[in-house]
Formats: sequence, structure tokens, C-alpha cells
Amino acid sequence: MDLKQLPVFQKRHFVPENADLTDAKTVVDLYTQLESRDISTPKLLEQWMLDRSELDAALSQTGSILYIRMTCQTDDKTIADAYTKFIETVSPAIKPVNDRLNKKYLEARKTVTMDDKRLMVYDRSIKTDIELFKEENIALQTQVELLSQEYQTVCGAITVNFEGKEHTLPQMSKYLLETDRNLRERAWKATAERRAKEKDKLENIFDQMFKLRNQISRNAGFKNFTEYQFKSYHRFDYTSDDCKKYHETIEKYIVPLNARILEQRKKEMKLTSLRPWDGGVDPLGRSPLKPFSEVKDLIGKSQKIFNRLDKELGAQFKEMDDLGLLDLASRKGKAPGGYQNTLNEARKPFIFMNAVGVDDDIRTLLHEGGHAFHALACAKDPIVDYRHGPMEFCEVASMAMELLGGEYINEFYSKEETNRSNREHLEGIIHVLAWVANIDAFQHWLYEHPDHTPQQRRQAWLGFYEQFGGKFVDWTDLTEVKAYLWHRQLHIFEVPFYYIEYGIAQLGALQVWVNAKKNPAKALSDYKNGLSYGGSIPLPELYKAAGIEFNFSAEIIKPLVEEVTKAWEKLL
Ligand SMILES: [Zn+2]
Repeated sequence: MDLKQLPVFQKRHFVPENADLTDAKTVVDLYTQLESRDISTPKLLEQWMLDRSELDAALSQTGSILYIRMTCQTDDKTIADAYTKFIETVSPAIKPVNDRLNKKYLEARKTVTMDDKRLMVYDRSIKTDIELFKEENIALQTQVELLSQEYQTVCGAITVNFEGKEHTLPQMSKYLLETDRNLRERAWKATAERRAKEKDKLENIFDQMFKLRNQISRNAGFKNFTEYQFKSYHRFDYTSDDCKKYHETIEKYIVPLNARILEQRKKEMKLTSLRPWDGGVDPLGRSPLKPFSEVKDLIGKSQKIFNRLDKELGAQFKEMDDLGLLDLASRKGKAPGGYQNTLNEARKPFIFMNAVGVDDDIRTLLHEGGHAFHALACAKDPIVDYRHGPMEFCEVASMAMELLGGEYINEFYSKEETNRSNREHLEGIIHVLAWVANIDAFQHWLYEHPDHTPQQRRQAWLGFYEQFGGKFVDWTDLTEVKAYLWHRQLHIFEVPFYYIEYGIAQLGALQVWVNAKKNPAKALSDYKNGLSYGGSIPLPELYKAAGIEFNFSAEIIKPLVEEVTKAWEKLL
């Protein structure tokens, strides 16, 4: 695959064809040219914005290609070094000049009239970035970065010696799918014991990060870190009070459904109580689903799903395959996981994953496919910042596609297997919705109590864990493990408050799906309509355009959960 041979979306106007955008000096020089330009008329300002966007897109694509190459071939040092060099030299070098360009833009906007309605989202983002930029915070942010790396190092180095062999954590989690209950218990306990050895280290890392974050928000003139962080994530359309509303509705409607799901599992497994190691295995003791063995089958059958869903989406997926924009097979040297990345200048999506022939692979491809369709739906917008939506909506695009595509998953399965796959998927969604609320409620508590002690933190976590469903599992004699489960959630350490996005978006995705049950054609055209706006309108309007509501109240959630419950009951 040669990502540089992609069809040209549009000839460059400002950036020289042969500019080496991996070179920090070249890049800074180009941005600096924009700094000295006259932008005092609407025409001049518009061209300036287009040129800035062209440079942003070309630069972003340069970074994307380096990143894609590295993840496709982690064992090639030259490729890895090229990416690291880009991140270490180009990214920091452009920060100051970007701050100056932002200020120049806002200054010009005071006198130059443009389409204010269209630029509303753009302008408010730029204003916020300027407001948050504080010279004295740079050093503190670097310290937080280093602590984040330390967290990764500590967690990444965890291996478990289990029954005479060294195991990684993903290897250990595979044991939880085994039908032998005793084996599961031993594996689970071995992992928990190993993790417990890092407890004090992780508590200490968190304490240091917590202090720094509170300081950073005070320096930027904020009352608390919560407010600061909401702004830095550009959360303009909801507040921490709305998040609390989300927690309440989840507790009221999702937690009881989750309890029913666990009760059903317990019954099917013929157990008197569910223990922490009983959640992953197939409750009826069947061997794992094997939907395909070759990646060409994964592509071929997914192609059929997309064709059945919508002609246009089917054609887009086919084009991605033809252009070599799918790298799906697992192979030695590839980084773990899956992602979609947009090549912003060619305006084409790329999908990376590690398919090995399991049920999850189909959902991952549908998920990343949803992100890819999103990128294509808004590819025509001339402003690169408008060619991607906010996270709370991006994940609607992807998670809704998992559900919509799931309706045609019989391309891979018999009827019984189809139901089994869809049931596992739905139960997973319910579980995650409750877990997101749990994590988010805990994070709110943390930053509302800047002077808390580790002991108070432990108590608070245990309280939230019970509240959001922990009580339905039997943790007898395992309180020490339960009390530090949050150590496993990297978001709390590395990207605080970032997580609720998944919960919010999942509620949106479920609404799309429920719409599709009533009127599939309309639901799909609304979905595509929502995607077509990219990031050019506020979050609630994006939801509205997609035929759904950005609203966490009982009014929306209660009927939604009723529909989901009905669908789940049908799959039993
Ligand atoms: Zn996603």
C-alpha cells in the first residue's frame, strides 16, 4: 500500500508541492508566512483561512502517514524514529505560532464581517484555546505528561506468572473465557495479586498528577479543574450538572437492566452467586464464535452488510478496499488494537485492525467503518476543523454502525449464532453504559474534593462501585481488589474526564438503532444527514440532524431502555 498515491482531492494553492512537512523549520516558515499576511477584507481573510486549513490538512496527513506506517510495522526502527521525530520536533514547534495565528484571526474578525452563523463553532473554539493557553502551565503540563508515561510504563510492564509461565495481561484475560470455572478463578486471582503489587506506586502517581492538575487550573484562572478541563475539551453544550443527570438516569434505568442481565447469566450458568471471574465466559458453555478464517471473507461479507444497509455506503467501503485503505489482518510487527485515521489532504479514511477471526472483529470493522463514513460524509467542507465532529458525536457514527450493521450480521452466521452475537453485543453496551457512569461520577467526586486523602478516595470509589452495579457480583473476601479497580482505567490517569463521551454517544447510537427498527430508510438517511455536518454545528444540532436527541433525561432514556430491553428479551 502506498498512501502517497491516493487520488488528489484538490490541487494545493498555498503549500508548495515539494515542501517537506516532516521538517519543523519548513512547517514553521509556512505558518509564519500566514502571520504576516494582510487579512483586513472578507476576501483576504477567507483565502487566509483556506490556506491555513490547507496547511493544517497537509501537515496532519503527513503525521497520519507516519503514524499508520509505524503501527503497521512496529519492528522497523527507521519508521518508528521518523514518527517520534515528527511528534517531538514539528508538533511543539507550531504551538506558539498557532496561538499567534488564532489571535490574529480573532483580531481581524472584530472588523471583518463573515458568515457568523457558519463560523460560530470555529470562533468559539479559537477563543477558548487562547483563553486556556498560559505560558506558566507548559512546564506543569510536561510534568503531567511524564507521569502519564510513568503510569504506562508501570502498567505495561505487568506480566503474570501463572502456572509456571509468564503471561501478558491480554493473555491472562483470555482465561476468563474458559468454561472451566476453577481455572478462571485461579487466573483472575493471579492477575489481581500481581496488580496489587503496583497499588502504592499507582496511588502515588495519581496523587502527583492530581496536585499538578489543580495547580494548572488555578493558574489559568479557574475555580476548579473540572471547569478547566471541560473547556479544554471544548464541551460547550453540556456541564458537569448534565453529567450528573446522566449518572442519575443510568442508575435509575440502566443499572436495573444490567442486574437482570447478570441474573439471567447466573441462571444459565446454574450458579448460586456470580463471582468477578464469571462475567466473560459464554453462559451456556459454548465455544467461541468463529465468523471467518480469512480476512478476505471479513471484507467480502462486511461489504455485503454495507451494501444491504445502503448503496452509497457500500460503494464507499468498496472504494476504500480498492484504494488499499484497509489493513485488517493481524500479523507479526503490527501494533495492537484498531483505529480509523483520516488522511486529511486526500480526504480519505484509513482503517487499521488486527483481525483474527473472532466475533469482535466484525464489530470493530463496523465501528471503524462508521468513523470512515463520517469522514467521507463531510469531506467537502473547505475548513479542515469542520471535517471532523466532536467525540460525543463521532462515536455515534461508529457505535450506531455497530448496531445497524449488526442487523445483517447473518452474512457471517446462522440464526442461532446471529442472536448470540447480537445478545453479547447488547449486554456489552448495557454494561459499559453503567461503567462509564461509575468512572465519571468518581472523577467528579475527585475534583470536587481537592483535599481528599487516599483513604477517603478509596471509600468514595467503593460507594460509586456499589451504586452502579458492583453489588450484583459477589466480592466476598476481595474488597482489597475492588477498592482499586479504578487503577485499571487509564483515562482517570491520562485524560481526566474523557470517557463520558462514550456513554453519551452510546445513548445516541441506541436512539439511531431504535429509529431504524421503526423506519430503517428514514433512520439511515437521518444518520447520514447528521454525519454530513462534520463539526460545523453545535452538538445538540448534530444530534437533531441525525434524528436523535442530545438529552440525558428520563424522558428520553426511559422509553429507550424499554426498547432495548424488548430487543434483548427477544435474543434470549
Ligand atoms: Zn470509535
